[in-house]
Amino acid sequence: MTEKDDWRLLNDVEYLQDKYLNPTDGEEIVQHAPGLNVCIFCREKVQDSPHQRWFVPEDLNCCICENCFDDFREAFRWKKLDGWDIEWMEP
Ligand SMILES: [Zn+2]
Repeated sequence: MTEKDDWRLLNDVEYLQDKYLNPTDGEEIVQHAPGLNVCIFCREKVQDSPHQRWFVPEDLNCCICENCFDDFREAFRWKKLDGWDIEWMEP
């Protein structure tokens, strides 16, 4: 269980409670959602790489790195989608 006073929770992340998240990668985010450039929790930078795993909520308001996904998935009760139906909003 994650500490309640984890510094990463200082950001405004309440709305992510119970969200459905799609797995994706850095390359996809850079291509389709260039407005998302850091992890909302830890500020890890999105890199243009298919080997960097990310998770995005259906509303694409933010992105979450793999570490933070693993750390917070239980606390936030995230449900993982299969990643095939992300509706990217073209810039
Ligand atoms: Zn992170």
